[in-house]
Amino acid sequence: MFRRFRNNQDFFEELHQQYQSQMGKKVLLDCEVPVLPSYHKLLEAKKKCYPHDLEISERGARVKLQALLDLTVQKILQITGTQIDSSTEGLKPIKFEFCKETAEYIKQEEAALKEEIKNIDSTKWAGLEISHELHMTMIDGKVATIITDTSSASACNICLAKPTEMNKLSEVFSRPVREDVYKYGLSTLHMWIRCMECILHISYNMDFELWTARGANKQLKAAKKHLTQEEFKQQMGILVDYVKQVFGTTNDGNTARRFFRDYEKSAEITKIDKGLLKHFAVILQTISSRCAIDIEKFRTYCRETAEIFVHLYPWFYMPASVHKLLIHGADICHHFGLLPIGILSEEAGEARNKEFRRVREYHTRKFNRMKTNEDLLHNFLISSDPYLSHIRPKYSNSKQFDFFPDVKELLLLPEVVTEETENMDLQELQPEHDPLM
Ligand SMILES: [Zn+2]
Repeated sequence: MFRRFRNNQDFFEELHQQYQSQMGKKVLLDCEVPVLPSYHKLLEAKKKCYPHDLEISERGARVKLQALLDLTVQKILQITGTQIDSSTEGLKPIKFEFCKETAEYIKQEEAALKEEIKNIDSTKWAGLEISHELHMTMIDGKVATIITDTSSASACNICLAKPTEMNKLSEVFSRPVREDVYKYGLSTLHMWIRCMECILHISYNMDFELWTARGANKQLKAAKKHLTQEEFKQQMGILVDYVKQVFGTTNDGNTARRFFRDYEKSAEITKIDKGLLKHFAVILQTISSRCAIDIEKFRTYCRETAEIFVHLYPWFYMPASVHKLLIHGADICHHFGLLPIGILSEEAGEARNKEFRRVREYHTRKFNRMKTNEDLLHNFLISSDPYLSHIRPKYSNSKQFDFFPDVKELLLLPEVVTEETENMDLQELQPEHDPLM
């Protein structure tokens, strides 16, 4: 016997209630009263999640931006009082393609996307007119270096400072800046990893106080690294800087968060100044919060941090990513106004990469590539549907987070501060190769 629902909304609402009463699973399992809708209804509901004009090819698939925005607006208007941001569930797919990520390809894609953004019209729906503002912030370091035409990843893409110039702070602060680069945002997730790596490398080189290890110093560095890794493993249970078999290292978002949350212990192991580590921890928590930042206080705090850094470790050139955070971080945050930089992060996009592989393996038809790509795109459109996300039960994905008291000093509305990290599996996230490290 099937239970009938007037429409899909009724069905999903019913299912939602079932979940809420913690009975959903039990009812479905007991199967006395099956609550699954007919296949036909399910198909209809799925179709409502697809914008029109999907382009599917053997190499990939894409959605037209305008159609995607229009549909998303319609879906959001069905919900009230919910903030849709860069959690995985709010993340819409635009395009995927199986090809080599060359500089030329990245530039071509950026130009195409810019052109599409330029021609975006406002969405008119239910007597409302909604205009769109699009920012390309979810990009990683490699893409940022290419689209900003920076000569190398070790130079700053905003003020073009080279490694040897990084620690001359008074000069750094007066360098001309490319304000048009602010719009690409701060890659908050990578900042956690890069700041941790920076601290680790200062620690490895501390015995000989040089930026790079040459000759006999190489052995000193390797020995110190080994010792540090062992201590982190034993005392904190985290693996830092281990090279993984296939690619990258064990340094991921979760490791870096542990590293800074327990900054006192990390300082003890690395022998790096506790105050400096705390400063980094506070800055990183601030940019990852989903709360607007008090720009001037943040600017002062970053500047102080940079001063402590060059005062204590003048021989270690500040890496470009750390420089970007400490020197330009406040200006980048300011560029986005009251929109918290934390919600613009690339983090959700990175977490999606992992899901991409899982969906492709288990939830697509494999008899031809077009169908595989079509199923992949469909799957992402459904799982990112704002309305479905809204009625789906929440598993404490945005929980009240224990920030350091100093973080609250740097925020405008510290009482509503949350950070979304608990439901993200960041194990597979890898930082780009950084020539400085
Ligand atoms: Zn710079």
